[in-house]
Amino acid sequence: MTVLVINAGSSSLKFQLFDMDTHEVKAKGLCERIGIDGRYKYTAAGRDAIVNDYEMKSHSDAIRLLIDLLTDKETGVIASLEEIDAVGHRVLSAGEKISESVIVDQRVKDIIRECIPIGPLHNPANLMGIEACEEVMPGVPQVAVFDTAFHQTMPPEAYLYAIPYEYYEKYMVRRYGFHGTSHRYVSGEALKILGNPNAKVVTCHLGNGSSIAAVDAGKCVDTSMGLTPLEGLPMGTRSGSIDPAIVSFIAENEGLTATEVVNILNKKSGVLGVTGVSSDFRDIDAAVEAGNERAKIALKMFNRSIEKYIGGYACIMGGLDAIVFTAGIGENNSVMRREICDDIAFLGVKIDPEKNAHPGKDCVVSAADSKVKVLVIPTNEELVIAMDTAALVAKN
Ligand code: ADP
Repeated sequence: MTVLVINAGSSSLKFQLFDMDTHEVKAKGLCERIGIDGRYKYTAAGRDAIVNDYEMKSHSDAIRLLIDLLTDKETGVIASLEEIDAVGHRVLSAGEKISESVIVDQRVKDIIRECIPIGPLHNPANLMGIEACEEVMPGVPQVAVFDTAFHQTMPPEAYLYAIPYEYYEKYMVRRYGFHGTSHRYVSGEALKILGNPNAKVVTCHLGNGSSIAAVDAGKCVDTSMGLTPLEGLPMGTRSGSIDPAIVSFIAENEGLTATEVVNILNKKSGVLGVTGVSSDFRDIDAAVEAGNERAKIALKMFNRSIEKYIGGYACIMGGLDAIVFTAGIGENNSVMRREICDDIAFLGVKIDPEKNAHPGKDCVVSAADSKVKVLVIPTNEELVIAMDTAALVAKN
């Protein structure tokens, strides 16, 4: 089976074409500046990337372009559109309405539309991606895989905020959580590695956006992101959790609106805000090397926040069997993993410095006598979307 995975943003569209027999990516690419002027990058497996300007007025134009690239005699990897068996879409939010991946029909599209208030940037774009595929490849089954779905098992004490209940009822204000596909995948892999379906696992997805989840016996019981992906850990450009009174304090003092302050919390804060250097943790590491004091503090803030979540979630679950590190920072930054694990050694966490420096295929980087296993599991959200898509289409 061949599955196309689409991740549509407001002016961009990322895609990967999977051969589901081998799980190989046959081709992948990115269309940018849709509706502005248009530019794309396309890479067929084993060949050089192609980068070109190409006018795309809409997401439908982008889908037409990618079909042309995939089927073209020179650039293509499939003979015709008919070889694409299904399309899997990454969709930000289905609110409380859908808790697993689903085949897209009118009801699903209506739910994605209804959830625009809680995913104002992403849901409309995700819908555009779905409708563009329906237009360009009618009859090809489409599947929606939601970033929020895995977190739908959280109990009310985890997802409610201590604010007037009517805001939950009127506006669906609650914790939803994000990166659900990643947390689901790596926690599932962790249970297999541990050989224990009832294990208590904390998954740390640490990338440009970072979130942590508490997963008890395969079910998410709490997570750090909230109504929006701003809550929780400090990130590349996002503040993470702060005293909410800071919003009106800064607004009044700087003559800004609340929306403008939240924009600053999303785009100019995090390690970028604290250091003034960069949102990329590799640049922060380099700044630390060069003796930048604020960069040192920013990294300590990040670690401390992660440690608070791990400790808190261990308490909520009544124990901890494993910590999983994933995504750009989690998979690659062995120094950070070691520092965090050393700081929380009293929980029974003991890292193996050798394994941690070069994680092997078994993913285990803790010492043999560590009470809590530490795992480094590379995430692959696109593959999970492709696998969900293939499984749903095969069932129907
Ligand atoms: P996104 O959320 O955009 O998918 P990623 O998961 O790719 O982000 O993570 C990006 C972050 O991972 C950046 O801060 C970057 O510094 C860090 N990162 C990526 N590769 C490495 C590496 N080899 N060593 C250290 N940090 C890395």
